[in-house]
Amino acid sequence: MMLIDAHLDLAMNALEWNRDLKLSVSQIREREMGLTDKVDRGKGVVSLPALREGKVGLVVATQIARYVEKGSSLPGWHSPEQAWAQSQGQLAWYQAMETMGEMVQITDLAGLENHIQLWNDQKIKSAEKPIGFILSLEGADSLVNIDFLHKAYTNGLRALGPAHYGPGRYADGTGTTGKIHPQGLDLLREMDSLGMILDITHLTDVGFQQAMELYQGPVWASHHNCRSLVDHQRQLTDDQIKQLIARGSVIGGSLDLWMVVPNWVRGVSDPLRDGAALEKIIDHYDHICQLAGNADHIAIGSDLDGMFGKEQSPYDLETIADLQNLHPLLAKRGYSEEDIDKVLHNNWLRLLRKAWK
Ligand SMILES: [Zn+2]
Repeated sequence: MMLIDAHLDLAMNALEWNRDLKLSVSQIREREMGLTDKVDRGKGVVSLPALREGKVGLVVATQIARYVEKGSSLPGWHSPEQAWAQSQGQLAWYQAMETMGEMVQITDLAGLENHIQLWNDQKIKSAEKPIGFILSLEGADSLVNIDFLHKAYTNGLRALGPAHYGPGRYADGTGTTGKIHPQGLDLLREMDSLGMILDITHLTDVGFQQAMELYQGPVWASHHNCRSLVDHQRQLTDDQIKQLIARGSVIGGSLDLWMVVPNWVRGVSDPLRDGAALEKIIDHYDHICQLAGNADHIAIGSDLDGMFGKEQSPYDLETIADLQNLHPLLAKRGYSEEDIDKVLHNNWLRLLRKAWK
């Protein structure tokens, strides 16, 4: 069964981790043996062949580049123009993958339907199918001004989350209590006029409320879990989940373990020792289903290449291809085949079809 994953940072991995994602996961890991510059060296779980193996035929793929002010402890660029250039390098990588037939960019309904048809075609092997990608910008810092949103849209940007970690130029994000700034509210209005999808992931509680009140167009939470199960400001409160449900939104369950299992300590907790299996994400799914009374609002937003690897992924997930195991795990928890289809692809498809009709 085809899967849709609404959050991967593929180009960031290609350019900043120097990973050739055309290779297998084991080849990428082997090349990184001995490197210690990043915590997840030699532990990555994502590559294009692994996506094909797992029939993850469509992903929402990010451009991501932060701007930081002097004195910030976060990594980032020293000017918005540099951040923009970084995001354009990432775009160039996606375009090169498209030229090589590895990926194909999806920007509209016709492209989406063609791509779904291709992935449903049993006569063609998965290994021969390109990975479809919808471009999303995670954190808007790199848009030098709002005119740059139009340049990005022309390049196929279809979703945007104004915030990421820390203070942002348009909206403050995770780890802060800040708002969406006036410039960010203007950005939201401009996105609305372009019919873009607003990603509310990484907004603060006050930013979430501002966005939900102002934004008229489609909203999703690309990679986001439940605060009532793992208490952190990065997670959605029950009230926020109910607001998203009321708008017909979809929430992508993230597999970064600190957001999945309670009391995870980065660099100390261990997936196997601490019993962090793939099945744990279904606790978050179940919680949202109970609030909704149906399975229409949950989906995959794995973030499996988001600055972590095996050390912070479910112990029974060797590569992203193992997301296929969600199917039997959901069945074991009593989900019907129809509901499993919704989780694995149909909920994202419903939202995209409505957004792009
Ligand atoms: Zn993120």
